[in-house]
Amino acid sequence: MIYLDNAATTKPAAALQALFCQYAEQDWHNPSAMYLPAVQSEQKVNAARKLLKDAIHAPEAIFTSCGTEGSNTVIFNGWSKKGGAKQHFITSAYEHPCVYECFRQLEQQGHRVDYVSAGKAGVITPEAVASLVCEDTALVAVMHVNNETGAVNDICAIADAVKAKNPETLVYADGVQAYLRIPFDMAGSKVDYYTASAHKVHGLKGTGILFYKKGSPLKAYLVGGGQEGTLRSGTENTFGILAFAEAAKMLLQNNTQKTAHMQMLKDTLCTALMQAKGAVCISPANSAPHILNMAFSGMRGEVLLHLLEKDGVCIATGSACSSKKRSFRVHESVGLPPALAECAVRFSFCPDNTLEEIQYTAEKTLAALKKFQGFIRR
Ligand code: PLP
Repeated sequence: MIYLDNAATTKPAAALQALFCQYAEQDWHNPSAMYLPAVQSEQKVNAARKLLKDAIHAPEAIFTSCGTEGSNTVIFNGWSKKGGAKQHFITSAYEHPCVYECFRQLEQQGHRVDYVSAGKAGVITPEAVASLVCEDTALVAVMHVNNETGAVNDICAIADAVKAKNPETLVYADGVQAYLRIPFDMAGSKVDYYTASAHKVHGLKGTGILFYKKGSPLKAYLVGGGQEGTLRSGTENTFGILAFAEAAKMLLQNNTQKTAHMQMLKDTLCTALMQAKGAVCISPANSAPHILNMAFSGMRGEVLLHLLEKDGVCIATGSACSSKKRSFRVHESVGLPPALAECAVRFSFCPDNTLEEIQYTAEKTLAALKKFQGFIRR
C-alpha cells in the first residue's frame, strides 16, 4: 500500500516499539507520585517537554490530548476577559474545524468574530488581518499551514502587524501541520500561543502540546488534580509524551534533506499530473512541502480516491475529520468554484515515501482520469 495521506496522520516512528517496551517495564509510574521511579518518569516527561519546546524556541508548554484540545484551550481560555463584556476576535475563513467551530461558539455567546478570506495567493495577509484589529480585539487566530491546501501563512508578520495596531491583542497560530516542517522561532516572534499534535509527526494519537509565552493569559480548560502547573489536569499520557519527543528527535535528524526530498516528490507528482485534462494545482506557490492539493475538472475527488484505493494508493479529498461531512469552506475561501472544489484531492507525503511510489501514483492517476473523467452523475 502506498500511503499518501500524511496530513491526516502519520505512521508511528519505528523507534517507538522499543520505547514502549521500556515504558511498560520502567516508565509507567504516575509522574505526580513521590517515590523515585515516579520522579524519574516526571523527569523524562520534562526532558520531552524541553526537546519539543527547543525545536521552535518556545518559552513554555503544557501537554494536551490533541491539537483540538490545544485550540479549544486557547480560544476559550487564552485571552483577557474584560468582565462580562462582549469582545472582538479575528480568524481566517479556512481554519481547521477545531478553531473555526470554537469561534462559531464565541459568536453564539454574543462576541464579534471576523473571518478573513485568503487572498489570490491562497494566504492570509498581515494587512487584511491588521485592518480589522480594533480596541477590543482580544485574540487573533491564523493557522501556520493550511491542512488542505498546504498554504503557509507568515504568522510572524501577522503577529507584528496585529501588535502594531493593538499591543494588547493576543495572537494564536495552529501549528499542527507546520510543527517540525516549517521553520519557526517562537521566542523571536510576537506569537503568543502555538499548538502541535504528535500523530502528525510520527508520534501517537492522543498527545498534543500547547506552547505559550510566559505571562500570556491562560486558564485551565480541564480542571482537577492540577497537573501541568494547574493548567491541564489529568494524569499525563506518559508514553504518548515520550513517544512525541522520540518521534520529533527522529524527524529532526537530517530535517533539511527530508524536507527537500518531500518537495521533490511533490514537484514530481504535480508536474506529472498537470498534464491531465482540466488539471488545477490548488496548493499555492511556496506551500508546505508535504501537501499537494489538486483538482481535475470532471472527476469528483471521491471517485478518484476510490479508484486509486483499488490500485493500492491512499489519498484524501480534504481533511480526514470532515471527509464524512464534506465541506467546501476551505476551497471556497481560496476562491475555487464549487464545481471544482468537489473535484479536489489531497496528496500528502512523508520522508519515507519514494520516487517510485510517486511515479506509480502519477501513472495510476492519469490512467483513472483518462478512463473516467467527465462521467459525472448529478
Ligand atoms: N489543526 C490542523 C491544521 C489539523 O490538520 C488538525 C488535524 O487534522 C488539527 C488541528 C487537529 O489535530 P488533532 O487531530 O490532534 O486534534
